[in-house]
Amino acid sequence: MKCVQCGFPAFFELGYSGHSLCKSHFSGLFERRVKKTIRQSRLVVSGDHVLVALSGGTDSMVCLQILKDTFSKNPRITLSAVSFDEGEGGRDVRGASEFARKLGVPHDTVQFRDFFGMGIDGIIAGVGAKESQACGICGELKSALLAEHAKKIGATKVAIGSNLDDEIRSAFLSIMGLEGANLAPILRKLGVKGRRGSVPVIKILRQCPENEVLAYADILKLPPKRAGCPHSRSSPKSAVGSMLDGFEKLHPGSKYQMFRSAEGMANAKKGRQRD
Ligand code: SF4
Repeated sequence: MKCVQCGFPAFFELGYSGHSLCKSHFSGLFERRVKKTIRQSRLVVSGDHVLVALSGGTDSMVCLQILKDTFSKNPRITLSAVSFDEGEGGRDVRGASEFARKLGVPHDTVQFRDFFGMGIDGIIAGVGAKESQACGICGELKSALLAEHAKKIGATKVAIGSNLDDEIRSAFLSIMGLEGANLAPILRKLGVKGRRGSVPVIKILRQCPENEVLAYADILKLPPKRAGCPHSRSSPKSAVGSMLDGFEKLHPGSKYQMFRSAEGMANAKKGRQRD
């Protein structure tokens, strides 16, 4: 297969259009889309201090790399990064600090143990939560710690590596009434009030499908994906993800359509709240 733009050997086929692109044209398209997302929604503006949540996974590394490439020459934009060590049962974040160091971005690691006295496994067992609730609880705890850390270092925005697939999965779970379902009593037990919106959260990859983020990471030669956390397998998000992948295979482009519909519904809701 050949690149539709230059005729060189193709590297990636865009599922929604059927067009194939070489590495150079694919990177160009990917970067333009992310920069347009940043520009159109004014996600980063002069004077911002952006704190990147760096899990050590591919999305978060691509997010940090693009922010670094885009803003490193702008003295009015500050970048820093933070990782969360969920303790036993959580993800391996060792590569994250190394990656931030390589990019010259100040980085901190926040330990669950220091805040909750134990890791995620101990927390799940301690509150008697179901295995399928583990990721929901962990996500809320990290969200609260992230907001706290952002305030502590004076960050004005928090960037997370959420991609288009993540956005659709969340929208689906929310429609099904499963996003954050039944977590409030558990979070109260842990002394956490749920998501805290004091520092705005930005998602520069929200218009990029997951397979494109992975392909871009491959071009950048970012470190390979490490073994994930065992709890991820029981998360409802993972089941919804497999369902949506199957649907995309049968109907290429359906993820984009779902994303647009989810965005439309979210905007309509915001409009109703303003009226
Ligand atoms: Fe936390 Fe779930 Fe991620 Fe594990 S997979 S670190 S439990 S959010």
